[in-house]
Amino acid sequence: MTAPNSFYPSASAAQSAAKNFALIPAAGVGARLGGTIPKQYMPLGGKPMLQYALDTFAASTAISHTFLVVSAGDGYIDDFMASQPQLAGHVTVLRHGGQTRQESVRNGLQAIGERVRENDWVLVHDAARPGLNEALLNKLVDALQDDSVGGLLALPVVDTLKRSHQTSSGARIETTVPRDALWAAQTPQMFRYALLQRALEQAQERVSEITDDASAVEMLGLQPKLIEGSPRNFKVTLAQDVALAELFLKEAP
Ligand code: C5P
Repeated sequence: MTAPNSFYPSASAAQSAAKNFALIPAAGVGARLGGTIPKQYMPLGGKPMLQYALDTFAASTAISHTFLVVSAGDGYIDDFMASQPQLAGHVTVLRHGGQTRQESVRNGLQAIGERVRENDWVLVHDAARPGLNEALLNKLVDALQDDSVGGLLALPVVDTLKRSHQTSSGARIETTVPRDALWAAQTPQMFRYALLQRALEQAQERVSEITDDASAVEMLGLQPKLIEGSPRNFKVTLAQDVALAELFLKEAP
């Protein structure tokens, strides 16, 4: 029987020639942010949000190629790519977006099957996290290169957490959740191609429990590794997040 934390019986042989690929699901509409254009194309510091993560991956010597998953009806992507000559040869657009993030990731993995080997790493990264920089990317890749499961950037939780229930007078605290050992997941989430594909296929029936790629891998009984990320890598979700993202992006990358 396979040990709970070891997917590859001979990890070192499988790792030797593994390449790193980035997969960016960008097929959402960003309803919580409002606005008239999809979130990933909203201007941040004068550039479309999507450009930040793509530039980071395209400039990285650790990443062999980047795949961008957009929805079939995306009317912005052609003009966007035409305006980004630095991405040519580094980024391939896949018009395979799904109804949910996980479906977009699953479709993307399916579409790149011919270009990626089973033991290559795939780094899945949200288009809505423009603060990923070279240092964070290298930290993740270096920490996981020899890992038998894979892992993700995440931040230790610093706030006190409350579980609530709804009452006639609004939300009230049911209990305080001890924050020791709690982390908030970020992306990239980095797993070997075959493992991630298998995890997301098997998790399809439990779609409401899957809010990131790691949770699908956890359902296989594996324990992804946590690598400390950074507040600058937060997910831009609400309208008020835009100003904060611009502040982080003004800092040295
Ligand atoms: O909506 P949220 O910010 O959680 O989305 C996280 C990432 O997943 C974004 O990059 C978004 O474009 C992507 N996504 C997707 N397909 C969907 C929904 C979200 O690729 N159907």
